[in-house]
Amino acid sequence: MRDIRRALLEADVSLPVVRRFVQAVSDQAVGVGLIRGVKPDQQLVKIVNDELVKLMGGEVSELVFSKSGPTVILLAGLQGVGKTTLCAKLANYLKKQGKSSMLIAGDVYRPAAIDQLVILGEQVGVPVYTAGTEVKPSEIAKQGLEEAKKKKIDVVIMDTAGRLQIDKGMMDELKEVKKVLNPTEVLLVVDAMTGQEAAALVTTFNVEIGITGAILTKLDGDSRGGAALSVKEVSGKPIKLVGRGERMEDLEPFYPDRMAGRILGMGDVLSFVEKAQEVMRQEDAEELQKKIMSAKFDFNDFLKQTRAVARMGSMTRVIGMIPGMGKVTPAQVREAEKNLKLMEAMIEAMTPEEREKPELLAESPDRRRRIAKDSGKTEQQVSQLVAQLFQMRVRMKNLMGIMEGGSIPTLSN
Ligand code: GDP
Repeated sequence: MRDIRRALLEADVSLPVVRRFVQAVSDQAVGVGLIRGVKPDQQLVKIVNDELVKLMGGEVSELVFSKSGPTVILLAGLQGVGKTTLCAKLANYLKKQGKSSMLIAGDVYRPAAIDQLVILGEQVGVPVYTAGTEVKPSEIAKQGLEEAKKKKIDVVIMDTAGRLQIDKGMMDELKEVKKVLNPTEVLLVVDAMTGQEAAALVTTFNVEIGITGAILTKLDGDSRGGAALSVKEVSGKPIKLVGRGERMEDLEPFYPDRMAGRILGMGDVLSFVEKAQEVMRQEDAEELQKKIMSAKFDFNDFLKQTRAVARMGSMTRVIGMIPGMGKVTPAQVREAEKNLKLMEAMIEAMTPEEREKPELLAESPDRRRRIAKDSGKTEQQVSQLVAQLFQMRVRMKNLMGIMEGGSIPTLSN
C-alpha cells in the first residue's frame, strides 16, 4: 500500500484523494483469495487498477447534445491551459461526427486570443463570432447565440477568459455568461500538468459555476495525469475528452481504463493478471503445477496447456507479459503457432496410455511409427515431439520458478 500511495502521489493525485483511495483499496483487498501463477502484489495492482477505473467513471462519458435548438458548450479554465486551442479542436472533432459548429470569442482581455480563435476557426473551417474587446462577454455570448440560431448551427462553443489564478471577477463573469447561454455542457479545461492543485481548482469551479464535466489537455506531456483522478473524486463529474497535442486532430474521448494504466505506469502487468485469471482456473493451475514440480507433465497436460495458450491470444503478447521473458519476433510466433497445430495432430493419434506415459514413446520406435502414420507426419517429427515434451518438463519447471520467486516491475518505475 505504501508503494501505491507513492505511485499516486508521484502521478500528482492530491493527498486527500490518495488517502481515501488507499483506504478503499485496502478494504477491498483484505481477504481476497490468491490466484496461482500470479504474484499477490500483481493481483493487488489489478484491484487498484479496477478501483481507479471505477473512480474515473468506468466507461467513456459522451458529450451531451441538446434536443431542441443549438447545443451550447461553455469552456472555462485558467489562462494557458489550452482553452482557445480546444475550441477549434472541439469544432473539428464535432465536424467529423457530422455536426456544424460556431465559435464565440469571449476572451476580451487578450486581443491576441480573439485573433488566435479566428485563425484556428479558418483552419478547421468553422465560423467564429467576434465583437471586439469593448463588449461585455455576456453580451457577446447573447449575440453569438442568436447568430447561431439564425444560421441553424448544431453546436455553439464559447471561449472565455482565463486568469492565472481563480479570482472573483472571473467567476462573476462566468456566472453571467452561463445565465445568458443556459449551456448544455459547462466543461472545465484542466491542464494535465496541474498536479496537486487540480482538486482545489475543480472544487471551486464546480461550486461556483457548476460544471458538467472536464477536459484534460496537454496529456502528451510528461505528466502521468493524476489530475484526472482528482476531477471525478472531488466533483463527481466525468472527464469527457482529452487533448494530446497542439494539432487540431489531437482530441479524443477519455478512456478511464487507459488513464488508470498511465497513472500506475504498468499496463503490461495488468493484462498479464487479467489473462491469467481468464485462462487458469485455480484448481487446474494447482494440479498442473504439482505435475510440473514432480516431473509428471504428460501429453494431456501438454495439450491442455497449448490450448490454453491459444486461448490467450497472440503468443507474442503473452510471452512478452511474463516477467523475465524477452521479446519474441512475429516470425517466431508464426513458427510457434504452426508447431502447435502439428503437435495437436500427433497427440491426438496417441492412445490414452501413451499420452499419460510419454516414456512408452521414448522407448518404442514401433509406437512412434504408428503415430506418424496415423497423424500423417514423419517418424522424425514424432521423435522430435517426444523429445520436446521432456525438454518442456525442464522448461516449465524453470518458468514456474520465475513466476514464484521472480521479480516484477515495481510501481515507481
Ligand atoms: P488558453 O489561454 O487557455 O486559451 O490556452 P491556449 O489555447 O492559448 O493554449 C496555450 C498553449 O498550450 C498554446 O501554445 C497551445 O498550442 C498549447 N496547447 C494547447 N493544448 C495542448 C495540448 O493538448 N498539448 C500540448 N502539448 N500543447 C497544447
